[in-house]
Amino acid sequence: MRNASRRGAVRGRRLAFVGACALLAVMVALPAMGSPTHPHEQRHPRVRNVILLIGDGMGDSEITIARNYAVGAAGRLLMDVLPFTGQMTTYSLQESDPSLPDYVPDSAATGTAWSTGAKTSNGRISTTAGADQDLTTILEQAEASGLVTGNVSTARLTDATPAVLMSHVNDRGCEGPDNMANCPQDLISAGGQGSIAEQSITKGVDVLLGGAADKYGQTITEGPNAGKTVAQAAADAGYAVVNDEAALDAATAGTPLLGLFAEGHMDLEWTGALATPYPGSGPQACSVNPDRSPTQPDVDEMTVKALELLEQERRMSHAKGFFLQVEGASIDKQDHAANPCGQIGETVAFDRAVGVALSYAAHHPGTLVIVTADHAHTSQIIPPQTAEDHSPGLISTLITADGAQMVVNYATNLEGRSQEHTGTQLRVAAWGPGATGVMGLIDQTELFEVMRQQLGIS
Ligand code: MG
Ligand code: ZN
Repeated sequence: MRNASRRGAVRGRRLAFVGACALLAVMVALPAMGSPTHPHEQRHPRVRNVILLIGDGMGDSEITIARNYAVGAAGRLLMDVLPFTGQMTTYSLQESDPSLPDYVPDSAATGTAWSTGAKTSNGRISTTAGADQDLTTILEQAEASGLVTGNVSTARLTDATPAVLMSHVNDRGCEGPDNMANCPQDLISAGGQGSIAEQSITKGVDVLLGGAADKYGQTITEGPNAGKTVAQAAADAGYAVVNDEAALDAATAGTPLLGLFAEGHMDLEWTGALATPYPGSGPQACSVNPDRSPTQPDVDEMTVKALELLEQERRMSHAKGFFLQVEGASIDKQDHAANPCGQIGETVAFDRAVGVALSYAAHHPGTLVIVTADHAHTSQIIPPQTAEDHSPGLISTLITADGAQMVVNYATNLEGRSQEHTGTQLRVAAWGPGATGVMGLIDQTELFEVMRQQLGIS
C-alpha cells in the first residue's frame, strides 16, 4: 500500500473504508458502554485506560482541509467517527499578570492545562505562571497510583507537548543539559530536577517513543548521572533504548522502552509546494516524502506498539490500567511553515493513529479515547482568488479527492516568517467510559478531571 501510494498523488481513500470498519467495530462494542456490569467484570477490578491523542495545532480548519483533500468534503476521517464531541477553550495566562488571559496560547501552556488541570503562561512546562512552582501531572499521578504510562510523539520527546507530562521547567527551551540557560532555578545544583530530557527518564514512564536523539545524546553535567549522556543514564536506569523501527518491533514488555527515531523531530509523511503570495502555488497534489527515513516508524505504528507493550505491562504488573498520550506534532510545525501538503500528511497519519486507538478500545472495554488538539492555527479554506480580490497572505491551491480545487490561505504573519497560532476554540471528541465529560463547551483544564476520573486517581 505504501509502495503503491508512493507512485502518485497521495490520498486517503482507504481511510473511508477503514473509517467505516472502525465505526462498525465501535457500534458492535457500544452496548458494553453504559450497560450493567458484566458478571465476569465484577470479579475483577475494572480496567481503567485513557488514550489521549493530540493533534498539535489541529483546529477545525486543519481537520476540514485534511478531510477535503484526503477523502472529499462528504467523506469522513476516522477522528470524525467519535460520537461524543464538545468544544474546548484554550486560552493561557499572561506571565506578567496571571489574572489576565493570553488569548493565543502555545503548546507548553495548553499541554500544562490538560496535564495538570491548571492554566499557565506560554512557554512554561507544568510550572505556575508568574512563579516557579511545579504542578503535579496526570502522568505522575498515574505512576503514583500504580498505573502503566506511555508518551508518544512525532516531535522531539523533549518538545512541549510530550514534556508537560513528565517534567517541570519554566522555559520550554530547556530540553537537554546543554539548553539550560533560561532555567537556572531548574538546575540540579539549584535544587531543581534538571533539563526536560533528564527529568523524562526519572518518572517511571514505561514507553517513550519519538525523536530527540540529539537531546538525549547531550552529556549530563551535574547530579548523580554527571558524565553520562541522557540516553546512557536511561539505559543505566533500566530502559531499553532503540533507534529504528526494526528494534521497536522486537521490543518486549517487562523493561521500560525509550525509542529515539530521529535526531530532532521525526520526518514528514508528505511533501509538496509551500504556499506563496498571489497567485500562490499549485494547483497541486501532494506526494509521499521521498526523504523520509525508512527506519522511522509512522505514528500509527508507534501507537500499535505502545498499546501492545502497555497492555502486556498492565497485565504483568496487575495494574488497573494505563495512560497513553500520542501526539501528531508536525501538523502545527507545517502550519507554521505554510506547507499545506506537510500539514495534511501529518493530519492523515495522526488520523490513522486515532484508528489504532479506536480499534484497541473496541476490543478492550474500559478504555476512554479522547481526540483533540492543543490550540488552533493559521490555515483557512478561502474562495478562488482573482487579481482584484485575493488574500494578502500565502496561498496554495490543492486538487482534492473530490477532483475539485481547494484554496488554502496562511495569513497570520509575513512571508518568510513563522505563521502564528490562533485563539479559537477546538473540537474535543471522545469514545468510551466517561466520554460524555467532553460534551458542551469545556475548558482545556477540565480534560484533566475527565481523564483523572476515568483512571480512578485522586
Ligand atoms: Mg507539540
Ligand atoms: Zn506551534
